[in-house]
Amino acid sequence: GPVIDISEVRKVYKTGALEVEALRGITLRIEQGEYVAIMGPSGSGKSTLMHILGCLDVATTGTYLLAGEDVSGLTEAELAVIRNRRIGFVFQQFNLLPSLTAWRNVELPLCYAGVAKAERKQRAIEVLARVGLGDRVEHKPTELSGGQQSRVALARALVNKPALILADEPTGALDSKSTADVLSVFADLHAAGHTIVLITHEEDVAEHAERTVRLHDGLISSDARRTGGVFA
Ligand code: ADP
Ligand code: ADP
Repeated sequence: GPVIDISEVRKVYKTGALEVEALRGITLRIEQGEYVAIMGPSGSGKSTLMHILGCLDVATTGTYLLAGEDVSGLTEAELAVIRNRRIGFVFQQFNLLPSLTAWRNVELPLCYAGVAKAERKQRAIEVLARVGLGDRVEHKPTELSGGQQSRVALARALVNKPALILADEPTGALDSKSTADVLSVFADLHAAGHTIVLITHEEDVAEHAERTVRLHDGLISSDARRTGGVFA
């Protein structure tokens, strides 16, 4: 079945007497192995949708099945468990700990998951090798380039074997060389069968995905798949 299956999701923010309907009925399915970009103007609901997809927040109404599991009605504590087990987050700010080496940064999610120390180190080094940093495992973030730092963040997102990689403007703070670097890692992950959802403002970044979902004013305004280099 699909990795993401959301139906008629609405999100209403209440601020005092004011209500803002940030999502007004979103229905979206993303299958295992898809590489999807989510785009839309400022205020269209991208962050709100990202937070719901990432189990950082819940919909006001509607349902969300993540890898077949209904997460719509879960408590904050239950959502935290799902986030840690099922989702690999990549944020614009890499949120790497500067005092820790690359592999120590990458093993952190495994510490939270209670994995034994020897296995943590082995898995951290394996996943760093997969993103092309096998020779940088003992380097600290300041000893790495921007593109390499973002690959450490990607490795940390992958180390828990997540069902979904959720990237929020991952290239927003990068120069063009580092952006190309990160996009090539996403391409490799896609080729290896990972499911990737990428929120981006940048058309040339979205073009690397095979499907683009556009939001406008809390609704999906278009959903196009790339077929042979052209969007249909
Ligand atoms: P985008 O990420 O596309 O810029 P958002 O999801 O951040 O869009 O915002 C969608 C709408 O919801 C906007 O009108 C925004 O002002 C409103 N909104 C977002 N977060 C909150 C919040 N925490 N409280 C109240 N309104 C919010
Ligand atoms: P913004 O969209 O305002 O730039 P971020 O993208 O950094 O903020 O974070 C969005 C949300 O995700 C915040 O609520 C933050 O606490 C949470 N968050 C940030 N990093 C992680 C992470 N590695 N794992 C889980 N949640 C995170």
